[in-house]
Amino acid sequence: MIKAEHLSKNFGKLHALNDVSLEVKKGEVVCLIGPSGSGKSTFLRCIHGLEVPDQGTRYLDGERMDPSDPKKYRELRSRMGFVFQHFNLFPNKTVLDNCVLAQVSVLKRSEDEAKKIALDYLTKVGLLDKKDSYPNALSGGQKQRVAIARALCMEPEIMLFDEPTSALDPEMIKEVLEVMKELANQGMTMIVVTHEMGFARKVGSRVVFLEAGKVIEESDAETFFTNPKSERAKDFLSKVF
Ligand code: ATP
Ligand code: MG
Repeated sequence: MIKAEHLSKNFGKLHALNDVSLEVKKGEVVCLIGPSGSGKSTFLRCIHGLEVPDQGTRYLDGERMDPSDPKKYRELRSRMGFVFQHFNLFPNKTVLDNCVLAQVSVLKRSEDEAKKIALDYLTKVGLLDKKDSYPNALSGGQKQRVAIARALCMEPEIMLFDEPTSALDPEMIKEVLEVMKELANQGMTMIVVTHEMGFARKVGSRVVFLEAGKVIEESDAETFFTNPKSERAKDFLSKVF
């Protein structure tokens, strides 16, 4: 479904990503973990096309993402949903409008159809009663659930999450992880940057451990947590547990 081959990204002299490859199959939940600054966000943003890598090739369902073909690039990007750490909702739009806008402008759905779909996904994340609220009137957990619903309204083939719970108070983390778990159970293909090791272990099918812009270790989730191979992963896990 997703294939990233030999991606590199430099910021000035810094090698934020250094020859990183990843293949994600339909229905897989791949968790990206690693220390701060290891390149997790850069990798995810490159996969989605929020950043263009300096080197490497990306494919979605076998179709190459080529920024020199902007129309095709946009189309491929629109088939991936992205959820940010800080929600990135439009503050001056209601919850419902947040979920409707891109459906109308990008997918060219009618206002009515877009509303119907938005209400459906807001119901799924348990926020139908907040449809007319503005983001500022919501808790962090609610904002993030709106952001997830908004992404799902675009009916993406894959969902990318960049530390979706890191900005949340502990009591709100669970409600967001529950929505993500439900999504995974329904078969959504997901790449999740997370520090929630419980989630990675229980919901993740695979863990990719990054450090200094490189993949240090890649294994199925259970193996990674019970029997990490590299000293760096062992060291990382000893600090988080
Ligand atoms: P964290 O866990 O703190 O979110 P991360 O693993 O997501 O970290 P990245 O945000 O991908 O790490 O950053 C990788 C490296 O690239 C870091 O050293 C960071 O400072 C640098 N970097 C990321 N984005 C930029 C940018 N737009 N300009 C300059 N440097 C950047
Ligand atoms: Mg990050």
